[in-house]
Amino acid sequence: MYGAGDVRVESVPNPTIQEPTDAIVRIVAGCICGSDLWPFASRAATETGSRMGHEFVGVVEELGSATSGLNIGDFVIAPFVASDGTCDFCLEGLQTSCRHGGHWGGTEDGGQGEYARVPQASGTLVVVPAGFDEALVPSLLSLSDVMSTGYHAAKKARIEPGQTVTVIGDGAVGLSAVIAAKLMGASRIILMGRHTTRTDLGREFGATDVVAERGDDGIAAVRKLAGGDGTHVVLEAVGLLSAMEMAIGVVRDGGVISRVGAPQFSAVPLGFPEFMRNITLTGGVAPARAYIDELLPLVLDGTIEPGLVFDRTIGLDGVPDGYRAMADREALKVLVRP
Ligand SMILES: [Zn+2]
Repeated sequence: MYGAGDVRVESVPNPTIQEPTDAIVRIVAGCICGSDLWPFASRAATETGSRMGHEFVGVVEELGSATSGLNIGDFVIAPFVASDGTCDFCLEGLQTSCRHGGHWGGTEDGGQGEYARVPQASGTLVVVPAGFDEALVPSLLSLSDVMSTGYHAAKKARIEPGQTVTVIGDGAVGLSAVIAAKLMGASRIILMGRHTTRTDLGREFGATDVVAERGDDGIAAVRKLAGGDGTHVVLEAVGLLSAMEMAIGVVRDGGVISRVGAPQFSAVPLGFPEFMRNITLTGGVAPARAYIDELLPLVLDGTIEPGLVFDRTIGLDGVPDGYRAMADREALKVLVRP
């Protein structure tokens, strides 16, 4: 990406092992993330460009001398950040704060490409025990970021069976949060979104109600559905101030707002009135690596099918148009097969 609206497909040298803890992975599938749309909308033009993509599944082709638990030919899932799996944060399940972690893209290899050097490969990569299965590629890929992020929202909210949950946002993360809320036993899931094809998928995933209105009208509609007081839990999967304001408006006193939409604002409006309501704000960036272990068996046994969020598949040459299609809300989430 060279700047807003400027995505190009270019050849770069194949990656090589640089540290003994590295692996080289041939990417079988990557994708475009909703978070890639923020720079696509606003990044200043640059001369050098940044490699893009932070979600992929692939096959291990080379291993550094200090790796363990991986074999050449393994079909693996790469979470959206690298982590060593051994530091104190990793052992606490917060691999996004790993002391030796790494990121994809920028000057490093991105997931929207053919190969990637994976730092801290033994801690980062998750082997799919069943091996490669074409039919499972989209759902396995979703664990790299989007499904794990939706799950993080639900986990941080500590949803209890029988609770009513509002999910704000009908993008791929919001829809994944619906799956997660249902997994954790929510009895009623109100999805706020206005794209019918997406909210229909949300119903398939477990949403019991859909509210298309926004702002004060949306808040009133959700509160009415929830008996007037709002819902115990709100999962915010947009990242705009207007979405956070709706979250504060629909949460029940004593309830939890869990946010996983990357915030495009600096201050959360939680002042004295919200203090008096005992609202808990939680959430943040998802340690996908921690959740893949929990979610992978559910994908393999068919309990969940989060890969349904992908509604378009393209080759590498189609990536620039894939960004456009997602930015124009023509595609929900675009899968890239290099
Ligand atoms: Zn670590």
